[in-house]
Amino acid sequence: MKLLSVASEIFPLIKTGGLADVTGALPAALEKLGVQTRTVLPGYSQVLDKCPKAKLVAEFANIGGHAVSILGAKVAGLDLLIVKAPGLFERDGGPYADLNGADYGDNWRRFSVFAKAAAMIATGALKGYKPDVVHCHDWQAALTPAYLRFGTEPAPPSVMTIHNIAFQGQFAAQVFGELGLPASAWSFDGVEYYGSVGFLKGGLQAADAITTVSPTYAREIRNAEFGMGLEGLINARAGVVSGIVNGIDTDVWNPETDPALATGFATRTSARRSGNRKAVAKHFGLKPGDGLLVAIVTRLTWQKGMDLLAEAVDGIVANGASLAILGSGDKGLENALQQAAQRHPGRVAIQVGYDEPLAHLMQGGCDAILVPSRFEPCGLTQLCALRYGCVPIVARTGGLADTVIDANMAGLAAGIATGFHLGPLSARAIVEGVADAAAVKRDGKAWARMVKNGMTTDVTWQASAERYRNLFQDLIDRQAKA
Ligand code: ADP
Repeated sequence: MKLLSVASEIFPLIKTGGLADVTGALPAALEKLGVQTRTVLPGYSQVLDKCPKAKLVAEFANIGGHAVSILGAKVAGLDLLIVKAPGLFERDGGPYADLNGADYGDNWRRFSVFAKAAAMIATGALKGYKPDVVHCHDWQAALTPAYLRFGTEPAPPSVMTIHNIAFQGQFAAQVFGELGLPASAWSFDGVEYYGSVGFLKGGLQAADAITTVSPTYAREIRNAEFGMGLEGLINARAGVVSGIVNGIDTDVWNPETDPALATGFATRTSARRSGNRKAVAKHFGLKPGDGLLVAIVTRLTWQKGMDLLAEAVDGIVANGASLAILGSGDKGLENALQQAAQRHPGRVAIQVGYDEPLAHLMQGGCDAILVPSRFEPCGLTQLCALRYGCVPIVARTGGLADTVIDANMAGLAAGIATGFHLGPLSARAIVEGVADAAAVKRDGKAWARMVKNGMTTDVTWQASAERYRNLFQDLIDRQAKA
């Protein structure tokens, strides 16, 4: 099976979040199942720098007013098709925003040209290459199914995957005329979205199947609280919506060989974690003693519940736990957490920034990790934590609810619990959740069981890659019969 994946980020070339981890890891997992993936991604400067041997494979004189060339490259086991359009993608800032964090004003142009190039590849613009199915990720790739649907060429079936429905790519109605879509696409059936242009909306309407990254999130986005305006569409298309949880790259996240750990440890024993615990405490200047040492590794945002964490810090410390925080994001939340660290020297510390090796060390050394998200399509942090014997304390939402088995009475009695679900989310629920975890840790045996359960949980891509493969095959078969 030949799969064309369309994504605006891919690990290890360009990453702002979990999306890149997924698009970077899925090709290898699918390959084991006989699916060959080629990934179309924008030619950001950061990407071109890492692909010095990329070769020209196609040229388009004019897509949306830009000359576009397609470069082929094989990097880190990935088969890439890079959409090179210097005026659109070769900039100093990040993939979506400038160095000050402001979204580029022409993001609609950048990602419509990107999606159009992908649609042209999908319909045979590269000599000798015709994919069987197209897999589009998030709003940046969402116009691809729309171009396929409103185009005149026979097109392969497409799947639209939502990694976070909060990001929709919504733009002023005026840009519609510049997208190169027929007038009929300005409709309920196309990209029209409450009087604006909705990229994600258009993709969700046009794709043959919709997936999101956990079954619980697939249900949640049918409600206004989570659907962010798209709940009506999701309900209308519920028959083609499903949830497939993410896995993690267990070669990158392998506690036996991880170079970021002070002391490596085997998958089934956690005794050697204590060397990493000491290293975390030293790095952060913490004195956790026998109390629960809790990690936070996250973007510091409202979605991640970091405002509630800031409120909960005093209560968490009063109950004897310590907090090591790694993250960056909202400046107000950074300040609030920095102030909390100043109030509790030796018990609360924060490092502002993005630090992959430190994240690994924290997962390998902290007793628990707190993930109090208001919504969480899947979440990867808790999967890494399970594998590293760091017990997840999570909000009961989305993929967090699907991947962590709560230490409620039934879970503990059956010996299957892997973590803790917080009650309805509030600062108080966070304080109580951490206290519950600390209480179980004091009962060494129950805690050891939970750690072991977590470390032996299947967090690989295998089962999920099979689900994607089956979905792709189903769409291919249906198209063949139609
Ligand atoms: P999201 O994509 O919403 O940010 P996920 O949990 O799905 O959240 O994925 C985020 C990934 O990035 C996880 O692997 C997490 O550990 C990692 N991460 C987040 N913030 C940091 C940070 N400050 N330093 C290192 N890794 C981080």
